[in-house]
Amino acid sequence: MTDNYDVIIIGSGAGGGTLAYALANAGKRILLLERGDFLPRELDNWDPKPVFVDGKYISKDTWFDSDGKGFQPQIHYFVGGATKLYGAALYRLRPEDFKEIKHVDGISPAWPVSYDEFEPWYSLAEQMYQVHGNAGEDPTEGRHSVPYPWPAVSHEPRLQQISDALTKAGYHPFHAPCGIMLNEARREMSECIRCATCDGYPCLVHAKADAEVIAVRPLLDRPNVTLLTGAEVTRLETDHSGRTVTGVVVSRDGNREVYQGDIVAVSAGAANSAKILLNSASDKHPKGLANFSDQVGRNFMFHNNRTVAALAKEKNDTVYQKTLGINDFYLPTKDYQWPMGNIQMVGKSNAEAMRGEKPDLTWFAPEWSLTDVAEHSVDWWLSTEDLPEPDNRVTTDKDGNLHISYTNTNLEEHDRLYEELKKILNRTGMAAHHVLRKNVYACMDLPLSGCAHQSGTCRFGTDPSTSVLDVNCRAHDVDNLYVVDTSFFPSIGAVNPGLTAIANALRVGDHIVSRMR
Ligand SMILES: Cc1cc2nc3c(=O)[nH]c(=O)nc-3n(C[C@H](O)[C@H](O)[C@H](O)COP(=O)(O)OP(=O)(O)OC[C@H]3O[C@@H](n4cnc5c(N)ncnc54)[C@H](O)[C@@H]3O)c2cc1C
Ligand code: SF4
Repeated sequence: MTDNYDVIIIGSGAGGGTLAYALANAGKRILLLERGDFLPRELDNWDPKPVFVDGKYISKDTWFDSDGKGFQPQIHYFVGGATKLYGAALYRLRPEDFKEIKHVDGISPAWPVSYDEFEPWYSLAEQMYQVHGNAGEDPTEGRHSVPYPWPAVSHEPRLQQISDALTKAGYHPFHAPCGIMLNEARREMSECIRCATCDGYPCLVHAKADAEVIAVRPLLDRPNVTLLTGAEVTRLETDHSGRTVTGVVVSRDGNREVYQGDIVAVSAGAANSAKILLNSASDKHPKGLANFSDQVGRNFMFHNNRTVAALAKEKNDTVYQKTLGINDFYLPTKDYQWPMGNIQMVGKSNAEAMRGEKPDLTWFAPEWSLTDVAEHSVDWWLSTEDLPEPDNRVTTDKDGNLHISYTNTNLEEHDRLYEELKKILNRTGMAAHHVLRKNVYACMDLPLSGCAHQSGTCRFGTDPSTSVLDVNCRAHDVDNLYVVDTSFFPSIGAVNPGLTAIANALRVGDHIVSRMR
């Protein structure tokens, strides 16, 4: 182990793991600090009871809401971070997301870079994470300079039926971009077996393009890379000027350790990255490290998300359901002046998962068991953009605990999207088969603890008084400090954030390599 590293990266998820990959390939000496361990490979990986009911892979952390009430956030501390459990729907933001967008509750601000500047990094990210897709089907999608590296994952018969009906009704369904290592042309060679336990589960056979499998594992034998697991970073120390991070303080096996690197990249996830910076307050940085702007922790976003189980009399035998998306409501329509968001599929319901997610769904139970409900449901996921509000923020208390205040925005748009979904279901012939006489959709909004899409908290921008990071994701106030995870998002758009975090890590990695030449 070396004493001084070129770059210390804190967190090995979409941002940190990918950054490590980019920098290690450029020959930099990397120390990757990860508070979790490798996620164990075991049959429980694919068992809904341990995963959804027992929450086996969810951290034991307690965070606190604005009333001081503790809750268990649904986050995952493993090598690979949240991507170990993610659905691998690897979407690009739309070109419009990089510009200012007006919403019913306010403005989603422009990014300091354009879609065209970001585009090459999206292409690289798609190649690296083996994204399967079909560019050109989705009218809202931006230009691709390079085609997807793999053909789109095919729809199974029920989804194909729905897709055909949607097209006939005038919608523009598309094949969702998926980061799974499925070779449909040669199934015998395929790493992915196309199973039903993907979205929200770890992949037992390591065929999901997650940050551990794609980015971290290939580095493990490299002499220039050191991975320390069980290494929770608690604080960053600076020199007397406050302009340079000189020590990364780690708690490991109950001991305090301090590491030095020329550059430090915080990639602990939006809430935890803010926590580390806020808990690193010092004389030179009294409000928290890199927080002269008072923006660290603010503008926390995590989407308005809703899962909807649409019930039909006929069975839905789909195994891998996450193949279809609809962006007809992503931008304002002729009937509604505000953007509503994205509709996609979520992993196929099963009774155990439903019980774990929302126990009161058992109200169906007297007539239909949860197993019946799950077997007949077609499962949708709706995302509407939430706005970066300064008071939606992460703070820490005197003991260093993490608090989140959050008030929803754009709920009207989200409700309108749900109404559009109901129309879609009617037009795709599903309502006629509903067991209950009128349209009844089991529907649940994700509470604050379901912070899968957390972002914001250290937004990038050109003005140091209103942003934490510059356009290269370097802290305005500290010369060798970067934040490279979803914290940098100035707005979140309405598609899943993973690919944008990955693309940005490659972009920042390239900048760091040039800076160190
Ligand atoms: C169930 C689920 C489904 C999802 N589905 C999708 C999807 O289909 N598509 C999509 O694009 N996105 C999806 N996401 C979101 C996606 O996984 C995240 O946006 C992405 O992983 C964020 O990357 P990140 O680098 O910001 O954080 P993470 O990937 O969470 O990485 C943060 C890392 O930092 C580590 N860490 C935290 N604190 C410390 C500390 N103090 N010291 C050291 N290490 C620390 C954590 O253990 C973790 O490894 C999903 C997330 C979940 C949970
Ligand atoms: S669908 Fe493929 S990638 Fe997903 S969990 Fe199953 S085998 Fe793994």
